[in-house]
Amino acid sequence: MKTFNKTFTQQEPIPEAAIARAVEVMRGGRLHRYNTLEGEVSETAQLESEFAAYIGAPYALACASGGYALHIALRSAGLTPGGPVLCNSFTLSPVPGAIHNAGGRPVLVEIGEDLKIDVDDLGRKAAESGARFLLLSHMRGHIADMDAVLEVCRIHGLILIEDCAHTLGARWKGGMSGTFGTVACFSSQTYKHMNSGEGGFLTTTSPEIMARAVIHSGSYMLYGRHLAVPDEAVFQEVRLVTPNLSGRMDNLRAAILREQLRLLDDRCRQWNLLYGCLEVELRKAPGLHMPIRPQHEQFVGSSIQFSLPGFGEDDMHRFIERCGKRGVEVKWFGEAEPRGFTSRYDSWRYIDGLVELPKTRKILSTLCDMRVPLTFNETDCALIGEIIGECVQAILKTGQIPVSVKNGGRS
Ligand SMILES: *Cc1c(COP(=O)(O)O)cnc(C)c1O
Repeated sequence: MKTFNKTFTQQEPIPEAAIARAVEVMRGGRLHRYNTLEGEVSETAQLESEFAAYIGAPYALACASGGYALHIALRSAGLTPGGPVLCNSFTLSPVPGAIHNAGGRPVLVEIGEDLKIDVDDLGRKAAESGARFLLLSHMRGHIADMDAVLEVCRIHGLILIEDCAHTLGARWKGGMSGTFGTVACFSSQTYKHMNSGEGGFLTTTSPEIMARAVIHSGSYMLYGRHLAVPDEAVFQEVRLVTPNLSGRMDNLRAAILREQLRLLDDRCRQWNLLYGCLEVELRKAPGLHMPIRPQHEQFVGSSIQFSLPGFGEDDMHRFIERCGKRGVEVKWFGEAEPRGFTSRYDSWRYIDGLVELPKTRKILSTLCDMRVPLTFNETDCALIGEIIGECVQAILKTGQIPVSVKNGGRS
């Protein structure tokens, strides 16, 4: 029996040019973003203006993490204590955590079979809760029908904040992910599309939100050293009434990210190539279902999801274990017990008024997930796909699971 023996958490090395630049920054000793010589623009400020240009946003702020960016995005957009914030229930724990940190109350919204937010439930919960904000997580790169989402936002007067932790470099109907809402947040934590260990970005079209976010991030009165920010007059309005919540990015991280940003589109193409290899194999496997992805969703395949309809809890455990024994690390979003990075919405018990979400629970109950690190090649992905297919067959043979499920496709 074939096994796979590379690790699913091994990232590519930091590019040599980025290492060289990081060494220069260290030699200079000026690691703090505001520690600049006369006339010098810090690495962090340069990264911000390059990031803003990449996204196509007027303003960008680099900060300590993606979760931190989400937190100050909500505060800067005017969330008040106890205020409800709508959020899709299929996401990672830093998202409800950021809402909580900002003093808000997450109101979780159901997802559909396509793993995207259920727009009908969104409308219903917007009306019920009176929420002013939608924090939309493009979870695992799945981008919802943004026309439909924006329509619900318009009807209910919701401010849209996009969580683009998994969609940096992705597009929807040609528009860059992160340009649909008022604010967008990104992460450069090791397992995202750029790797600085920890790190995050916030982009926005709103001068007021940007000025508040910069002050929140811990700019002191040195915000004039940023490039991708609004005019001084906007800062004058907010500078004394915005608390310093210290969460800056430093020049060392910025130095290693600048080169990665230049390589990002190439990396996204590589991810999609690998995703394609996996997809071809997985679509051959009877009993395995892949979500249908519309043509205009130009996602980045840095991870892949599939479900195993009809599988019970026991079958799922056996499947995951079987894959693991053959070196294929599959995550299960439906597991009752949170494990590693993965937790189901009902494990976020600090949420006030946490309600049952039957549709989401059912979808997650057989939903599997796998990272696709760029240290894998096309042969690796074909082998992984083959192993997964065989493991599904092995479970199907031993159980009483009907194999009537049609595999999805791209529309
Ligand atoms: C990683 C992640 C975040 C938070 O990013 P950090 O930089 O780790 O704080 C937010 N949302 C999603 C969906 C993520 O995967």
